[in-house]
Amino acid sequence: MSGAKPLAVVTPGSTVGILGSGQLGRMLALAAARLGVKAHIYAPEAGPACDVAARHTIASYDDMQALAQFASNVAVVTYEFENVPADAAAAIAAHCPVLPGPGALAITQDRLSEKQFVNSLGIATAPFAQVDDAGSLARAVAQIGRPSILKTRRFGYDGKGQTMIRDGSDLSAVFRSLGGAPCILEGVVPFAREISVVAARGAGDSFAAYDVCENEHAHHILSTTRVPAAISAQTSAQTISIAAKIAAGLDYIGVICVEMFVVEEQQIDGGHVEKIFVNEIAPRVHNSGHWTIDGAVASQFEQHIRAICGWPLGSPRRYGRIEMRNLIGEDAHRWRDILGDSAASLHLYGKHEARAGRKMGHVTRVFAE
Ligand code: AMP
Repeated sequence: MSGAKPLAVVTPGSTVGILGSGQLGRMLALAAARLGVKAHIYAPEAGPACDVAARHTIASYDDMQALAQFASNVAVVTYEFENVPADAAAAIAAHCPVLPGPGALAITQDRLSEKQFVNSLGIATAPFAQVDDAGSLARAVAQIGRPSILKTRRFGYDGKGQTMIRDGSDLSAVFRSLGGAPCILEGVVPFAREISVVAARGAGDSFAAYDVCENEHAHHILSTTRVPAAISAQTSAQTISIAAKIAAGLDYIGVICVEMFVVEEQQIDGGHVEKIFVNEIAPRVHNSGHWTIDGAVASQFEQHIRAICGWPLGSPRRYGRIEMRNLIGEDAHRWRDILGDSAASLHLYGKHEARAGRKMGHVTRVFAE
């Protein structure tokens, strides 16, 4: 437990290991380099992170020998995605710290254990039920109702591994469409907006949250983040304390993102109250925090490096009103126009092929408030 055992301090000049070679690993490696820390990427395939890291190893996550060699050459290992196999994390942990810790990884890899954990802290989620086969799906639908959403417990992202159950849906066919994998059924939350809290938890239980992000999705992929979110100051404080409680409950070290739904409940006096439901926890830096590179004193990537190195956290203070847009697929072909916009900070991830649905880069605009 971080509270009981102080974090080992990694000094400038050392190397951090990063599992995964995508854009999140790339931006982590760039932030590390700025702080005089080298990055060593480990991934089954070369990706955008390899272009900017001091070293990379291309090997599978079940190559125990390659993992051991990688882990013995770095001071600490972190990851840019939550589906790190438990065996790989354990093999690395025999040589050096893995942060955020394997406990946080195990809980957040599984939508069922994640929701049970959140509820155990007294924090609301959508109603849910465990589904292991077509029979338990029928019972779950009787309990939760329709419409509802069936999601695989593991390996879901950007809307993959989930499907809506409506009136008339054939339950056996729906269950088969997700490959018969263990699932949960969730009630549909009638949200007014989707928000996220990106925050860092570091040595000595230190905690620093960015202002709450408001997120818009298109085809299940994040398209735009605006900060601050259009919620009351009271709701904003409540969401940040929810993220702090979750991070402390996971004994978390690093940047965490908690995605939440805001439901507006109408009151008889014509006003409304905002109610919060946690949707998902990402045990890593997150797309809705990319704006922090240009729009905050310390970016989420810098905060993560600081946290896993046992350094003091930086300031999450925001420089202005923020709009971050993802460049998905062919959006990235507009790079020359974006360069001509004096308010825009362009980030391209160096991916060669602009396939549909692929995150190619992002643009941040910071406006005076
Ligand atoms: P997820 O993969 O769980 O983050 O879901 C992807 C997106 O689907 C979310 O960002 C929401 O827009 C929508 N969604 C997921 N779960 C629910 C839910 N229980 N109620 C309403 N919308 C949902």
